[in-house]
Amino acid sequence: MDEHQLDFDTLAVHAGEQPDPETGALRLPLHMATTFKLPGFGSKLFEALLLASPRAPHAYTRWSNPTLRALEDRLAALETSGQSGASRTGALVTATGMAAVSALMLTLLSSGDHVVCSEVCYAGSVELFAQHLPRFGIQVSLVDTSDAEQVRLALRPNTRLVYVETPANPILRLSDIPALAQVAHEAGALLAVDSTWASPVLQQPLRLGADLVVHSLTKYLNGHGDALGGALVGPPEMLHRIRQDMLVHLGGSLSPFNAWLILRGLATLPLRMQRHTQAALQVARFLEAHPAVERVVYPGLESHPQHALAARQMSGAGGMLTFQLKGGLGAAINLAEKVRIFAYATSLGHAHSLLFYYPTDLYVDAVPYLSGTQKASIRSWMGEGIVRVSIGLESPDDLIADLDYALSSRTFKGWAGPLAYRLMKGKSG
Ligand SMILES: *Cc1c(COP(=O)(O)O)cnc(C)c1O
Repeated sequence: MDEHQLDFDTLAVHAGEQPDPETGALRLPLHMATTFKLPGFGSKLFEALLLASPRAPHAYTRWSNPTLRALEDRLAALETSGQSGASRTGALVTATGMAAVSALMLTLLSSGDHVVCSEVCYAGSVELFAQHLPRFGIQVSLVDTSDAEQVRLALRPNTRLVYVETPANPILRLSDIPALAQVAHEAGALLAVDSTWASPVLQQPLRLGADLVVHSLTKYLNGHGDALGGALVGPPEMLHRIRQDMLVHLGGSLSPFNAWLILRGLATLPLRMQRHTQAALQVARFLEAHPAVERVVYPGLESHPQHALAARQMSGAGGMLTFQLKGGLGAAINLAEKVRIFAYATSLGHAHSLLFYYPTDLYVDAVPYLSGTQKASIRSWMGEGIVRVSIGLESPDDLIADLDYALSSRTFKGWAGPLAYRLMKGKSG
């Protein structure tokens, strides 16, 4: 069976897993083992281990494990399905999405190197870039990567990497992957794309010219809110280096149990993404027409400033949307208090619908080193604050009814909350 000829939906079920040769079990047995018996000193296999080839026999789970390798094979197949050159792509799984981001940065960059990053990224990522990389002598430029020209202007002779997140968490701003690949490659730099919000169902950055793809498996790829995980997908030689240099040394390896759960989650990824996307569009349209709502940002709506780019580089707009409330913070507190199906919670990509409020002041102040212009540009997307919504797999009608109820009359906290919040903020300076 030539895996590269199979469709995405088939690969999501089959890639990386074969019936167990011993028992015939169709699901790959879960290998909860830290250690593997080595084939003896001096044998060919042990030599292979010493040479540490990318597919060396398993020795210790921090380096590799059969369940982890199955997940890696499936992720590489999904990121490259329908493309030529798929066999030249590998994957590496990590304990969390952040372990993937940090392994990538700390392997590819050294003291004296320069990296250009999106100033709007998952908070953990942008904090790592702005607060920690400079401690190691790595120069960091945070720029608005939705404008390829700003990226071009930020490049330096020592720029090794351009790092973007598209769609960007939490504001759903997009970056043009083919345009950025060209800009980065002209300068001899690599382009890495965090594609967590799209998943390989909706966006395949490698096909669009990126060199490396980053995923938090915690989100859509697992999809059930019960396992953390991360991954890098790209050229096997580069991933081999990241594995040897950072997975082995920093130790952010994935638990085989989580890998096994994520493999199970992946079987339904295409179906889930289709449903998340359909339901998100329905909810976005409902919110756009709601009198309590100021603005909805969803790449699938004609009103999204980059709707055309979304249509070009994504095959669907996904399950995430944000909206601004006319009533500001008070209305957001009210909403958080009154939702019954949605959970007021962080994270995303679960079967369970989630929502979370970001006050713009707190958000822009959390990212150090942003210029006044950058803060103003983020403010123009976020208004006073945004409600970030992860549309789950519940009935869209129930989700809409839940929001409709929660957007109606205010609770006491919804009225008094903003005052308490301002007093609290005033106290903490
Ligand atoms: C959640 C998230 C991460 C971090 O992933 P963890 O698995 O929580 O470490 C990175 N990037 C994006 C876009 C995310 O949404």
